[in-house]
Amino acid sequence: MKALDELTFDNRFARLGDAFSTHVLPEPIAAPRLVVASPAAMALLDLDPAEAHTPVFAELFSGHKLWAEAEPRAMVYSGHQFGFYNPQLGDGRGLLLGEVYNEAGEHWDLHLKGAGQTPYSRMGDGRAVLRSSIREFLASEALHALNIPTTRALCVIGSDTPVWREKQERAAMLLRLAPSHVRFGHFEFFYYTKRPEQQKELGDHVLAMHFPHCLEQPEPYLAMFREIVERNAELIAKWQAYGFCHGVMNTDNMSILGITFDFGPFAFLDDFDAHFICNHSDDQGRYSFSNQVPIGQWNLSALAQALTPFISVEALRETLGLYLPLFQAHYLDLMRRRLGLTTAEDDDQKLLEHLLQLMQNSGVDYSLFFRRLGDESPERAIARLRDDFVDLKGFDAWGELYIARVAREGVADQEQRRKRMHAVNPLYILRNYLAQNAIDAAESGDYSEVRRLHAVLSNPFEEQPGMERYAERPPEWGKHLEISCSS
Ligand code: AMP
Ligand code: MG
Repeated sequence: MKALDELTFDNRFARLGDAFSTHVLPEPIAAPRLVVASPAAMALLDLDPAEAHTPVFAELFSGHKLWAEAEPRAMVYSGHQFGFYNPQLGDGRGLLLGEVYNEAGEHWDLHLKGAGQTPYSRMGDGRAVLRSSIREFLASEALHALNIPTTRALCVIGSDTPVWREKQERAAMLLRLAPSHVRFGHFEFFYYTKRPEQQKELGDHVLAMHFPHCLEQPEPYLAMFREIVERNAELIAKWQAYGFCHGVMNTDNMSILGITFDFGPFAFLDDFDAHFICNHSDDQGRYSFSNQVPIGQWNLSALAQALTPFISVEALRETLGLYLPLFQAHYLDLMRRRLGLTTAEDDDQKLLEHLLQLMQNSGVDYSLFFRRLGDESPERAIARLRDDFVDLKGFDAWGELYIARVAREGVADQEQRRKRMHAVNPLYILRNYLAQNAIDAAESGDYSEVRRLHAVLSNPFEEQPGMERYAERPPEWGKHLEISCSS
């Protein structure tokens, strides 16, 4: 276990130089205080969890203090936003403070979000509000606990610094951790500004740091692209399986590591709705829940375009063709597990689609359905879940098919079935209204609800005594919260 001043830095991205990022110092926020910290994320840096409660912790993650070895840099990138190319992006309110390596030899980027203006701020103030910082913190740590690849969040620091959004709010900073902050948009930037040499420098860096095994392949760039396709297909399969809606799948928010990146107006589905749009500003539904799958491919095509100087168009096309089948395979595998199935049958996809259509028609709670399906024997669970459906005949027909499908796997011990299903079907998810309650309390200075919710979500598969209310269906108001990009 380390103290804060014992972190070891090795700032590999900063060493690429000024073509890739700009040196900028964080602008401190006033009266910094700890809102919440993640002991699990601190452990990634070998940090003693007690360090979170030292005054220097809040100072370091609010821009008041800096390690001597830190080299804060704003990264430059561009990207496609809502389908249109925007040449002018980059870290407008976040800074890569440096890279730290832990005792296991892993490198972690320390990225401070809300650290003030940079050359890439455009018209923005360089700040993040408490509300959005809490949402990102809770979501990163909750996704991680669900085994969904994601950036991590070390802490949120609150302040007295006023920030103007639709109303006056308070600035906060979030310390984000990831093995890399390189986005699809990094490659797009050097491609569209026609700087092949620098693009190659970036590509070689990413290969050496994050895909070293690809260097042994005959075409390292192609091998790397293939892995990016594979990782993103798997990531989006997990989002779809767990009802996670990202909300702003612009190419500047897509990680080359295939991890969930840049949280804005995200949501977990409450009632199942394939067409759900979590981003209030997304009028066309480009990033609706079911559109995430084709958008994943669209984004990979945008990356492929940027990689044409290194890889033949033919090879890029062929590799892009892997995305959908890979997505399908991962998704079906996860959904079989969520349904408690241990074998594969040809009609499983149909069985699943049939269920989702029934859930859609009746507005059934997506997460609780699967949890309850494992609570009791298939027959009993189906009999109990029936009450949630409007189309009783339709559900009865599905229930018969499901019970017969389970029976074909042989008689299983119900206790084992329950354990197996509960290990993949969370009881607690980050519902929008739960985040909102925690934010409301935090905005009035009470951080206990954020901390409690974080603790509950860190262990989503285990029933936690006294925490029943976090596992309930949302109240009606909680289903209609309007979350926009403004954060
Ligand atoms: P996001 O919607 O958070 O993915 O951000 C899109 C772009 O806008 C990125 O280049 C951000 O750095 C920039 N940006 C977002 N909010 C702000 C802000 N308050 N101040 C400056 N830049 C911002
Ligand atoms: Mg972004």
